[in-house]
Amino acid sequence: MPVLFVGHGTPMNAVEDNVFGRGWAKVAKALPQPQSIVCVSAHWETAGTLVTAVKQPRTIHDFGGFPRQLYQVKYPAPGSPELAQRVAGLVTGAELDESWGLDHGCWVVLHRMFPDADIPVVQLSLDYGAEPRRHFEIGAQLAALRSEGVLILASGNIVHNLVMVEVRGDDFNEPFGFDWAVEADRKFRALAEKRRYKELFDYRSLGRPAQLAVPTPEHFLPMLYALALRGDDESLSWFNDQPVAGSLTMTSFVVGA
Ligand code: ZN
Repeated sequence: MPVLFVGHGTPMNAVEDNVFGRGWAKVAKALPQPQSIVCVSAHWETAGTLVTAVKQPRTIHDFGGFPRQLYQVKYPAPGSPELAQRVAGLVTGAELDESWGLDHGCWVVLHRMFPDADIPVVQLSLDYGAEPRRHFEIGAQLAALRSEGVLILASGNIVHNLVMVEVRGDDFNEPFGFDWAVEADRKFRALAEKRRYKELFDYRSLGRPAQLAVPTPEHFLPMLYALALRGDDESLSWFNDQPVAGSLTMTSFVVGA
């Protein structure tokens, strides 16, 4: 099974017909049918690594100030306590969780990729006490799932600085990126291509553009889970690689398409 990293952007991508949602749907159609999905989202940070083990995860609307329509969207995919057990067995120190559901980092993307919501989904949290290298190692520990028909979906944004967002016109998704955002995106992408992971772990020493691009790590880290799963002979296929609102990039990739 290929592995995905997806830039999720604004939650409105769940309900707007736009180039990003269409990109997600197109990539999903090209995949083998997943048996189940493990999603690593920027929007679930915890002490230690947790895995959702509920039978029916709730749809979490973890954002504010959006139109009512968006709060009515539900993504009623089942959970999978069995898969959660399997994941907890693979990831050192991971524990089962029965409180979380599906946050918007996951369901916004899955709603467009698999609108029938009939594939079981579990979420894996980001341990906020872990260094980037540790996140990469956790990603690598999921490798066996690929041959079991499990889609691993990592969801964040490689460049994500909400303080510096600048929307031109009415459309948040109007293609526009500050020079530093475009430069950082190119740099991260080149390092990912060349498997120069140590430099990605140490992104704070990559200069001012990288520091502005990753003011906090949670949207950047999911990319490391996907890169950790790249096999020796596998390439990265990039899509949705556009900056929006000045300070975000939607850059996404498939590992092993
Ligand atoms: Zn986000």
